[in-house]
Amino acid sequence: MPYRAPVKDIRFILDHVVGFAEVAVTDRFSAATPDLAEAILAEAGRLSTDILAPLNRIGDQHPARLENGAVVSSPGFAEGYRAIAEGGWVGMAASPDYGGMGLPISLALGVDEMMSSACLALQLKPLLTKGQIEALEHHASDEMKALYLPKLTSGEWSGTMNLTEPHAGSDVGALRTKAMPNGDGTYAISGQKIFITWGDTDLTPNVCHLVLARLPDGAEGTKGISLFMVPKFIPVADGGLGDRNSLRVVSLEHKLGIHGSPTCVMQFDGATGWLVGAPHKGMAAMFTMMNNARLSVAAQGVGIAEAALQHALAYAEARHQGATPLAADGPILEHADVRRMLATARAEVFAARAISLACAKAIDMATATGNPDWQARAALLTPIAKAYATDVACEVAGMGVQVHGGMGFVEETGAAQYLRDARILPIYEGTNGIQAMDLVGRKLLDGGEAAFRLIDEVQRGAEAGRAHLPDLAGEVWQAAEALREGTEAVLALPLNDRFAGAVPYLRAFARVLGGQAHLKAALADPGREALARVMVRRLLPELGGLLAQAREGAAGLYEVGSEDLAA
Ligand SMILES: Cc1cc2nc3c(=O)[nH]c(=O)nc-3n(C[C@H](O)[C@H](O)[C@H](O)COP(=O)(O)OP(=O)(O)OC[C@H]3O[C@@H](n4cnc5c(N)ncnc54)[C@H](O)[C@@H]3O)c2cc1C
Repeated sequence: MPYRAPVKDIRFILDHVVGFAEVAVTDRFSAATPDLAEAILAEAGRLSTDILAPLNRIGDQHPARLENGAVVSSPGFAEGYRAIAEGGWVGMAASPDYGGMGLPISLALGVDEMMSSACLALQLKPLLTKGQIEALEHHASDEMKALYLPKLTSGEWSGTMNLTEPHAGSDVGALRTKAMPNGDGTYAISGQKIFITWGDTDLTPNVCHLVLARLPDGAEGTKGISLFMVPKFIPVADGGLGDRNSLRVVSLEHKLGIHGSPTCVMQFDGATGWLVGAPHKGMAAMFTMMNNARLSVAAQGVGIAEAALQHALAYAEARHQGATPLAADGPILEHADVRRMLATARAEVFAARAISLACAKAIDMATATGNPDWQARAALLTPIAKAYATDVACEVAGMGVQVHGGMGFVEETGAAQYLRDARILPIYEGTNGIQAMDLVGRKLLDGGEAAFRLIDEVQRGAEAGRAHLPDLAGEVWQAAEALREGTEAVLALPLNDRFAGAVPYLRAFARVLGGQAHLKAALADPGREALARVMVRRLLPELGGLLAQAREGAAGLYEVGSEDLAA
């Protein structure tokens, strides 16, 4: 079934749910007029449906492979990548000083979503390059910016992110990769990194690795980590390619999904690197890239969920199994339980898209105004968007398989690929458990101020909606009140007790924000009321159970001993 780009839905959310107009009136983003937004999203939709989507299955069936130490891409990926680079999509949100378009993240995220729906494995390549561009814009020297940013922004070169080592995954601070000063301002980087996405490629002549490593005087843990630019080929002053650096791909991981994306074990043997930012401040610099990537991964979640849902809906419209309540021989879509699955999936996809775009808007507003309240809003929403949208991807892709019945379990229909591809999303860029701990830990360090400000906003909107949709508005208001009380209870807990309930707390927050988004949609367009009812009447009631878990603390979990787990 061909993928249909949901340009109309993205536009609707931007215009009526997250208030993109506020971004477009700032001086910084004044170029992002409604006409331009429409043109960009429509063009990205065409690229995704016509050029990228046909590559999705090819990448799955013909994975990237390693030949003589070099990655060979899946068939057709070269043409697909060329279309992305030549269309200027890599530099969409990048600084115009280095060839970018300087457009808002809110628009770039809609583009990311559609490209992810179409071909997640290929979309990962520009995703990482975009994150690297942002990290360099913020932390690199002017000289490094001038050398690398034009090539990265145009998509001529690509970027990677090298954090993970065999013994240092979530605990990045445990990394052992070393950086020894060469005495000429460069460093010799030695160590092994694993799971490096697009760590090598035949789609671009150069690959620029941002590598976390420890200087000889670096302290233990995250405080002693520095960030280095380590290119595959060392650029010469005019931007051409110089010597081959001493780094190599040892092997490619054999994965459950995203087969078209080469995930590399990288070996650095005294490779020449250049410091990015200050010594020992590598985590701060890398966080710029990771925050960018976290929101982009949220968009990947929405994208896979959207594609899996479209796929399942088409099957449910075509497949007939016995009498339905509406016809003697109707499509399975007419069975109440199948309708429940698809309506739930659509309500979740809408909520995940709205939360991700609200986070993107907060980033844009923070960039445009420098207002710390917007920065705090973006920081609060990033883990919620990443974890919720990627969990939704797995749930909806799972539902998509279920809607297909037995045909979902065989590869020919394509439903299974969405489930396999989706499964990485809650794991990389910080597992969803780590995201939830970030939410209840660091993101509540302000005493919950940013969270309470957002809850107030949900309640003000619900209050205003009571005149038109009293039942829905009333339930959203009540849910926000329950979240307020739940947040106060979580704030009163010691940290490990918070961590024990972090995942349900994050989902509770997403439920309330989903209720808010659907209520706004129904108020703006009565045609969206039925879907809003699915969210508010069927999904929002989960809130009580989620908040009960969030309050419960950790002790009971530790009472379950190893022997209980084993039995
Ligand atoms: C396909 C793929 C692509 C990737 N791409 C990249 C890339 O480009 N660059 C890169 O650097 N890395 C990449 N990664 C690595 C990825 O980011 C890590 O796998 C991820 O951060 C988790 O680390 P880990 O695998 O070591 O799991 P672990 O850290 O061992 O975690 C295992 C489990 O324990 C939990 N856990 C760990 N610590 C804690 C804690 N303190 N509290 C509570 N729970 C905890 C985790 O949530 C998880 O459920 C990729 C991985 C894959 C599979």
